[in-house]
Amino acid sequence: AKRQGRNTWQWYRGRQVEQTLGDVLLRNDLHTALSDGQFELLYQPMVEALSGRIGGVEALVRWRHPQRGLVSPEAFIPLAEHSGQIIPLGRWVLRQACREMAELHARGGRAVPVAVNISSLQFRRDGFLDEVLGILAETGLPPALLELEVTESVLLDGAELAIELIDTLRGYGVSVALDDFGTGFSSLSYLRDLPIDKVKLDRSFICDTLHSPRSAAIVQGIITMAHHMELRVVAEGIETVEQQRELARRGADLLQGYLFSRPLPLADLAALPERLPAA
Ligand code: C2E
Ligand code: CA
Ligand code: CA
Ligand code: CA
Repeated sequence: AKRQGRNTWQWYRGRQVEQTLGDVLLRNDLHTALSDGQFELLYQPMVEALSGRIGGVEALVRWRHPQRGLVSPEAFIPLAEHSGQIIPLGRWVLRQACREMAELHARGGRAVPVAVNISSLQFRRDGFLDEVLGILAETGLPPALLELEVTESVLLDGAELAIELIDTLRGYGVSVALDDFGTGFSSLSYLRDLPIDKVKLDRSFICDTLHSPRSAAIVQGIITMAHHMELRVVAEGIETVEQQRELARRGADLLQGYLFSRPLPLADLAALPERLPAA
């Protein structure tokens, strides 16, 4: 039944993904984009809520399309997942992020972990562990400076494998964060089962917290529960000083959002001060 469920899901996704001619064209262009060097990474800092210190950065991929300019990952990641291109693309992202951060440290830059988004297809594929370990060895990035961001869908095809893999990764010193938390279906049981280090509260809650008492209650509940499980909480999408204050007051450990910084090229990231006051 599981397998059938998965096929249905893929078929549904596929249908959704190929709705427009633009998508079909974009999907064709994906084939050459990687070998043509059209992808690049930006880095967005995560700021410690109490000190304002940069506590980590998230790598976010961009596609510099020769005709269309900068294409959002929201547009091409689903296409890449559907076509299987996510595997080489995801590997490139992981290698590039590790390489760039290792370089930054070698130049005496601050040693903060880099978080890399991992598609569930990539995560659940045989050989992913070896890929991660190989890239760490090749780039020289200390495993403690790598964090993988996964979503609840890593559990889709069976939780045991994902749980085991996360345990193994953490044994090597790589940390794992659960991304987009609160948007899935069975978030609470996932939090119970997954041996993760960190939870990233989805932006949709953050926008709402100030205006909706229910959203505020959910946010507070998640933060309190996560802390009881010794997980750190990142609040994403912080755009205003009010949101910063509210989430800090409610106990979020790290804040991420345009208020502090947009995603930046490596050189601009390296030039940031150690502490980021709200802009
Ligand atoms: P995400 O992992 O939830 O990443 C956070 C997104 O929120 C990023 O969008 C970031 O630029 C945006 N953001 C950050 N602060 C703010 C804010 O204050 N306000 C608003 N409105 N947005 C903010 P981006 O870079 O467009 O990425 C979108 C999504 O694409 C990501 O969501 C992630 O799911 C996916 N993605 C990005 N890079 C990669 C990658 O290398 N691999 C994979 N598999 N997926 C990626
Ligand atoms: Ca993420
Ligand atoms: Ca997220
Ligand atoms: Ca998201």
